Amino acid sequence: MISIDLQSGRAAPLISDLVVLVILSLMLVIAVRLWVDRRKKAYRSLAWSIGIIMAQYALQLYLHSSAQPSETIAYWTLLLRTVSFLLVNMSIFQLYNPTRAKHRIMMTMFLLGAGAVSLLHIYMPSLFQGTDAQVRMLQGLGMDLYLFVLIFLSFNLISPFIAQTGKYQAAMTIYFTEHVAHVLNRYVFGDAQPFLSLLKAVLPVVFYFILFIFLFERVVEIMQAIYNTSITDGLTRLYNRKFFDKRVSQYVQHGYPVSVLFSDIDNFKKLNDTKGHHMGDEVLKQVAEILKQESEECGVAGRYGGEEMVLLITDPTIDMDQFAEKIRSRIEAETIVTASIGYSKYKSGISPNELIRQADEAMYKAKTSGKNKVVSYG
Ligand code: GH3
Ligand code: MG
Ligand code: MG
Repeated sequence: MISIDLQSGRAAPLISDLVVLVILSLMLVIAVRLWVDRRKKAYRSLAWSIGIIMAQYALQLYLHSSAQPSETIAYWTLLLRTVSFLLVNMSIFQLYNPTRAKHRIMMTMFLLGAGAVSLLHIYMPSLFQGTDAQVRMLQGLGMDLYLFVLIFLSFNLISPFIAQTGKYQAAMTIYFTEHVAHVLNRYVFGDAQPFLSLLKAVLPVVFYFILFIFLFERVVEIMQAIYNTSITDGLTRLYNRKFFDKRVSQYVQHGYPVSVLFSDIDNFKKLNDTKGHHMGDEVLKQVAEILKQESEECGVAGRYGGEEMVLLITDPTIDMDQFAEKIRSRIEAETIVTASIGYSKYKSGISPNELIRQADEAMYKAKTSGKNKVVSYG
């Protein structure tokens, strides 16, 4: 039954519509979930867009399965095809950018354009005196050309503003190819060229599959970003105190011979008072960068408090005296501040908190004995 239908070209569009509907419903679940969870307008409009595209495919399914499609359904399918293309692109844009008034105005203009061009479908019979077949063929021409313009504009206007550009451009190229196949088939081969018909059935599935992966990757990106913000400090991008403490605990509880280094910028309050908080922030970032660079291959850097930064050194072969001295001298040479540094090495039976407290105590000794120096605990 199905093989006969495939040959006569009836089943392929139906299967294609159904598969696209399945992919769209998966996307709808993700979009609704994002919206319920994060309450952002972008996710609400994404969910709406997917809903409207599903309506288009439901109509299309009806059109492909009915022997004598009604004029009204044909009109709405045509209009919704362009509208969904616009909505898909708007949603992709919104996944990465906040929408401003100018974006909404542009979108409204394109949507009104689609509505205006779609009227050709209704007025073509009175505009063009030809045979029924000719009129029917020309009814969709305006919309088909308009869609070419939209594909071209989207490809060029949206790519620079999103990540995953490769995936987006691949999806747009596939949409373009599908549209070329559709136009050639309709206007040159009278909808009867088997290879083009097959392309028309397969390519939308590929297009929506890529969009599904696009959305999925975006969700992963968002989750990663949320996790990263929860464990790092916004200004310096070092790990925050909570995460740092956890890492120290993990190592100490397993008895690894780690060291903790505690640094505190000297006279930082004075710098803030004389040069302003903005300058203070810049200096914090510079010092953090030095700590990050130095600990990149041997440990973890964290921001413990205001201008207190800490390192967990997990490489037991490091000579801590030399290492701490290098950091101190780099801060002195590369920034407009100096720092007092203390460190302490793991001894069996010590608790994670105690190890950090010892490093802090050593730093305090450095402070009280002249600042801008390194002191080891004990
Ligand atoms: P000492 O040499 O004894 O360490 O003196 P200090 O002035 O560095 O020490 P104190 O702890 O009194 O001052 C730390 C200052 O750091 C106070 C606070 O205003 C400032 N601070 C804390 N967090 C930030 C921040 O994120 N940005 C800026 N610009 N300043 C901060
Ligand atoms: Mg301090
Ligand atoms: Mg200080």
